Amino acid sequence: MLAQAREVLQHVWGYDDFRSQQADIVTRVASGEDALVLMPTGGGKSLCYQVPALMRPGTAIVISPLISLMQDQVATLLQLGVRAAYLSSSLDAYEARAIESQLLDGSLDLLYMAPERLVTARTLDILQRTPISLFAIDEAHCVSQWGHDFRADYLGLSVLAEQFPQVPRLALTATADLRTRADIKRLLRLENAEVYLSSFDRPNIFYRILPRLNALEQLTDFIKREHPSDAGIVYCLSRAKTEKVAEALQARGFPAVVYHAGLPAHEREANQTKFLREEGVIVVATIAFGMGIDKPNVRFVAHLDLPKSLEAYYQETGRAGRDGLASTVCLFYGLQDVIKHQQMLAQSEGSEEHKRHERRRIDAMLQLCETTDCRRQLLLRYFDEHMPKPCGHCDICAEPVATWDATEPARMALSAVYRTGQRYGVEYVVEVLVGKRSDRILANQHEQLAVFGQGQSLSLKSWRSLFRQLLAKGLLLVDGEGFGTLRLAPECRPLLKGEVSLALRQDKDTLTAQRRSSTASRASQTLDAADQPLWLGLRALRRELALAQGVPPYVIFHDSTLMAMVEHMPLSLNEMRLIGGIGDSKLSRYGDDFLAVIRQHVDAMV
Ligand code: ADP
Ligand code: ZN
Repeated sequence: MLAQAREVLQHVWGYDDFRSQQADIVTRVASGEDALVLMPTGGGKSLCYQVPALMRPGTAIVISPLISLMQDQVATLLQLGVRAAYLSSSLDAYEARAIESQLLDGSLDLLYMAPERLVTARTLDILQRTPISLFAIDEAHCVSQWGHDFRADYLGLSVLAEQFPQVPRLALTATADLRTRADIKRLLRLENAEVYLSSFDRPNIFYRILPRLNALEQLTDFIKREHPSDAGIVYCLSRAKTEKVAEALQARGFPAVVYHAGLPAHEREANQTKFLREEGVIVVATIAFGMGIDKPNVRFVAHLDLPKSLEAYYQETGRAGRDGLASTVCLFYGLQDVIKHQQMLAQSEGSEEHKRHERRRIDAMLQLCETTDCRRQLLLRYFDEHMPKPCGHCDICAEPVATWDATEPARMALSAVYRTGQRYGVEYVVEVLVGKRSDRILANQHEQLAVFGQGQSLSLKSWRSLFRQLLAKGLLLVDGEGFGTLRLAPECRPLLKGEVSLALRQDKDTLTAQRRSSTASRASQTLDAADQPLWLGLRALRRELALAQGVPPYVIFHDSTLMAMVEHMPLSLNEMRLIGGIGDSKLSRYGDDFLAVIRQHVDAMV
């Protein structure tokens, strides 16, 4: 069975071998049993059902929540010479009938559809009259109300267990928490399914978090240094901010487009298409953008505002580097984020339990920002995964954070909050500490307080950093309304009484040059200068072929496949055949064209 599966993998996909658990999953499903697959983004879930679909008689039915996902998958499969189609509301009745009759003819290997279509009496009736090889339920976490993408239509999928008990079912998701997992098993009737849980580590992603000073300057510096001419996503909280940031990037010569739910549909679509089809486009977006974006060569994801939880952060950053090549994620966050989140918590109307839950989620996010230990270890621990050693591939591992003894300044800060009556925000209290004789301070006679001017040895920046960390640690609280009035939290008492000391991180707010030379993050940076012309030539050919067929370039070949061509410079179809990602179909479609470009390059070299 495994030998047969490998044969399919090599001939159709042109890949050498399965990754980690793929082989077990494929053989299990191919032999007719159920499975639940939990794998991170980019882990290779699609092959888990696509390979068995080609091994078993009949058509595989794939349930997918989004039309863009279905289109992408089908375009990719067609390139591989696999007979695939999708049924969606974007087709007219005539087109849909044509696909239904292909299904009944047995001339489809895979058929994608949304859950709401599957559960109609009409579709179920057709499926009863057709040999089905398997059911694959993609994005299976949509069945759970705990998650963020709940879709009521997914609940109807339990019908598959009742009506097609003999057909193997496979559920796949990148959401691994226990509650969601239990929901999937129960609601999709997968009690007997073998569960395959992969590590959720994304080793090719470099994690970086920086205190925000001037976000735009920091962002452009980051892109210029680490990802010039790469595709990336920049997330902002508000629509207005996405527009402002996109304009600023454009003004600096970056090909940036904007995406948020408030744009007219045609503009949104055009911007998304540009991002998918052209190389090196940056999309500045609210979190409305992302679900269903399968672009494999997103090289960076930047956040200009704090995500609301580690789940959200992990999901949004996970859109970088699906192709397994080096990618960077960078979060810029600051005092205002902490204040805003505390205010949102204070205003939240839910039950006490709900509030506690929310607080835990935000605290975990803040902890990731303020940690002085490996970010990846902390992130994985949150997802119940133990990583024994620091990762060596995050900003803190690359350059350990210094801490300083902030016990005295912190006590001074807490005392200043208390002495000014717990009625002011950070800016005011800092002014008192550094001894600024502003009108407001004089009017309140706060220049007469003992703490007034006691904090002159620290810069304004250091004071703000200190307040941010006190807030993030929950030693200070802010009010829900107004300008973020500070209050002492009960937790600060031991510190005030001198019973404990406090170490805080020494902020570093600029990128260090070290990273650029030590880790080549862009795909093309790993190439010698002499190879650049070939790389560009291959990319140009890929773009031309993609344009002619109206598909994204990565559907023709991935960056990693083009890079392997540059590295090995195959000069015959037989040699070309050995490159990862070139199966039978792509070899006969594109082999000669790409060989011509390589030969031309080799001729020019000698
Ligand atoms: P997921 O759906 O889990 O996010 P995909 O199925 O899209 O991931 O796979 C991610 C990338 O990895 C794809 O480009 C896919 O072609 C590639 N891939 C998957 N399995 C293998 C393999 N065994 N060998 C080489 N590349 C693979
Ligand atoms: Zn690390």
